[in-house]
Amino acid sequence: KGPDGNFTVTLIEGDGIGPEISQSVKDIFAAAKVPIKWESVDVTPILKDGKTAIPDDAISSVRRNFVALKGPLATPIGKGHVSLNLTLRRTFNLFANVRPCKSIAGYKTPYDNVDTVLIRENTEGEYSGIEHVVVDGVVQSIKLITKEASERVLRYAFQYATDVGKPKVRAVHKATIMKMSDGLFLSLAREVAKDFPGVEFESELLDNTCLRIVTDPTPYSDKVLVMPNLYGDILSDMCAGLIGGLGLTPSGNIGDECSIFEAVHGSAPDIAGKGLANPTALLLSSIMMLQHMGLNEHAQKIQQAIFDVLAEGKTITGDLGGKAKTAEYAEAVMRRL
Ligand code: NAD
Repeated sequence: KGPDGNFTVTLIEGDGIGPEISQSVKDIFAAAKVPIKWESVDVTPILKDGKTAIPDDAISSVRRNFVALKGPLATPIGKGHVSLNLTLRRTFNLFANVRPCKSIAGYKTPYDNVDTVLIRENTEGEYSGIEHVVVDGVVQSIKLITKEASERVLRYAFQYATDVGKPKVRAVHKATIMKMSDGLFLSLAREVAKDFPGVEFESELLDNTCLRIVTDPTPYSDKVLVMPNLYGDILSDMCAGLIGGLGLTPSGNIGDECSIFEAVHGSAPDIAGKGLANPTALLLSSIMMLQHMGLNEHAQKIQQAIFDVLAEGKTITGDLGGKAKTAEYAEAVMRRL
């Protein structure tokens, strides 16, 4: 927070539709008088020691401000290019991925009462990249589970549940089969639970969770689900499907020091530059960011305006079946404010 009372936040507008949806966030935040000053940074990859890397200015901006909002980044196709999203995650050690999915009135899906929160371990598991050929035709891939990373994400899940008022944390696992790795995750969950007596702890097998949540998501509204990396990757997209897809789902990548909030969708090159993009997912990500910063009143006010405009259904973008341009939708939200 600066002497003028404003918080400085790093803004990575991103590629494709990124600048258009970022403009909507900037306009709506200005209209809602959110005490935030944006510091825009370019993350066009540079070559460092023969590898693609994020420019130093961008890294120091996030380090200085602790919080960033990020538009989608197109992953260049070709050898030698690493995913910038993965690079950002590694650079800032963003250990927890938080994905809330809440039904949006006005966008009809088979269920209208979805309200799930999934927290995914973001640094290890099957994503550790430890794979090798044992002999020709036999490949081994190692799933790494450590006490340190598991405890860190579990503790965050319990703290998150406490902060948002969800009474339960449920660890999702497969400890019946992965007895040692998921077994460690589960036993640590039980340990961490003891430090949060106000939160009820439960556990469930991943396959059961999948079956039950698509059968009836209602019983999942009072819980935060927490799980190892790969399970979270898959289950979070399944939850997104329950509310109408990736275009409406926000996410937060949380680290010890820095956190980066982003929409789940990509850069949508097919509609970029045409003013057709739906900024809702990035807006909802920016609302998660405000809550993370403790700016709850502003978060609530903007969220209500968005939900009202979507529920009314008159000024919605093409992906939701409407005719409004990105800017027209943003203006409708600003009028509601
Ligand atoms: P995508 O999400 O960009 O697009 C899939 C479809 O959804 C397209 O038809 C697109 O027009 C539509 N869509 C996506 N977001 C929309 C929005 N806000 N409003 C309206 N329509 C929207 O997925 P893709 O085409 O597979 O990927 C394009 C690029 O984005 C790739 O380079 C990929 O690597 C990158 N990507 C980045 C991220 C990220 O930065 N987190 C995530 C996924 C994909």
